Amino acid sequence: MVETTRTDPAPVSARASAVPASKIREMFDLANEVDRDLVRLEVGEPDFDTPAHVIERAHAAALDGETHYTSTLGIAPLREAIADKMENRSGRRPDPADEVVVCNGAMEALLLGLYAVSDVGDEVVVPTPAWPNYEAQCVVTGCAYVPVPTDPDAGFALDADAMVEAIGPDTAAVIMNRPCNPTGRLFEASAVRAVLEAAADHGAYVIADEIYEGLVYDGSNAGVAAMAPDPDRVLTVNGCSKQYAMTGWRLGWLTGPASVVTTAGTLHQATTSCASSVGQFAALAALTGDQAPAEAMYAAFAERRQYVLERVAAIDAIGCAPPDGTFYAFLDVRELADDSAALARELLFDHGVVTAPGVGFGPGGEGFLRISFATGLDRLAEGFDRLERFVAEAAG
Ligand code: PLP
Repeated sequence: MVETTRTDPAPVSARASAVPASKIREMFDLANEVDRDLVRLEVGEPDFDTPAHVIERAHAAALDGETHYTSTLGIAPLREAIADKMENRSGRRPDPADEVVVCNGAMEALLLGLYAVSDVGDEVVVPTPAWPNYEAQCVVTGCAYVPVPTDPDAGFALDADAMVEAIGPDTAAVIMNRPCNPTGRLFEASAVRAVLEAAADHGAYVIADEIYEGLVYDGSNAGVAAMAPDPDRVLTVNGCSKQYAMTGWRLGWLTGPASVVTTAGTLHQATTSCASSVGQFAALAALTGDQAPAEAMYAAFAERRQYVLERVAAIDAIGCAPPDGTFYAFLDVRELADDSAALARELLFDHGVVTAPGVGFGPGGEGFLRISFATGLDRLAEGFDRLERFVAEAAG
C-alpha cells in the first residue's frame, strides 16, 4: 500500500478561490470565539421569529403531502401573490406564467438574474458602499465589478452623473439596492430615472434588489420598475427574509421579462430545481395572510431607529444620516479612526460591541461602522452605553 502524506491543501479553482470573504461574517466568527458578554449589532436579520400563522401554513402543507419538487418557477398561487404585490408597488403586474420565478432566497434570485443577463467579462455597475455579496456574485459569474462610490457627505445619495458615466457598452447590468444595505438610503427617484435611462441606452439591465422595501420609514417604497422608461429592462428581486422574519426559510423571487425569467428558470433547473415546497406555502401565507405580525415588527424597527438616532445625536464624535429604510444605521466614525476594521476589532475585544466595518462594503465605506437595529431596545441601550464610554476614553 502506498503511504501518502498530505502537506498542501487540495487544489481548488482559481475562480472559486477569488470569491472574497465577507468582512461582516469575519466579525461574526470572531465574536463567536470571544468569551464575554457581547452586544451583537453586526447581524443582518430580524431578531423576531417567523409569524405563527406562516409556520402553521407550512406545517399543514407538509401534512397534506406538499413535500415534493414543485414546478421550477414555483407554485402557482405564490406566483400570483408575488405578481399582485408587484402590481401594487410598480403599477404593472408581471405575468405569473412566465415573468415570476420563486428562488431559494433573494440571494439565489440575484445570482440567477445576473447569470441570465451577463457573459463572462461583462461589467456590472454598483453604487457603493454596497452589500458585499454583489462583488462576490460578480466573481462567481465572471463579471467585472464596477463600484461607483456615493458621497458620505451627501448622505450617500446616488451620484447620477458618476453612475451614467460608468455605464457603457460593456455594461450587462446595474445593481441598485433600494433602500440600501448598509446606508439605509432610499435612492432619489430622479437619480434612479437617470440611471435607468443610461442603462436602457446601452442595452443594459437594471437589477433592483428591493429586499428591504417593506422596511421604509421615510419616503415611498414604489418599485424601481415603476420608474423605468422600459420595464422590460428591469429585473426586480425581493423575498420574505426581512419583512416577514423568514431568513431561514430561504424564500425569494425574481420578476422581469419572460425571456430573462424563463432563462433564469432553466438555470434554476440546473442548480436547485425549485425552492423548498413547504417554504413556498409559508411565503404564500406571509404575502396573503394576516399582516398584523409584520406591521408589529415594522413598528418595533421604527421605534428602534428613532432611539438609535437619538443616541447618536448625543455623541459628538459620531454622526449618522438617518436611514430612510432597512434596519441598519451607518455610523460616521471618521473623527475616531480611519481604519474601520481595526476600530471594529477594538470595539469587539475591548468593549464587547460587535459592529460591521464600513470598509467591508467597498469604496465609500471606510470611516464608517454598520450597526443593525434588528435587536431589542435593551441591548441597543447597552451597546450605546459602551460606545459612549469608548468615545469618552478615546477623547480623554
Ligand atoms: N440583498 C440584500 C441587500 C441583503 O442585505 C440580503 C441579506 O442580507 C439579501 C439580499 C439576501 O436575502 P435572502 O435572505 O432573501 O437571500
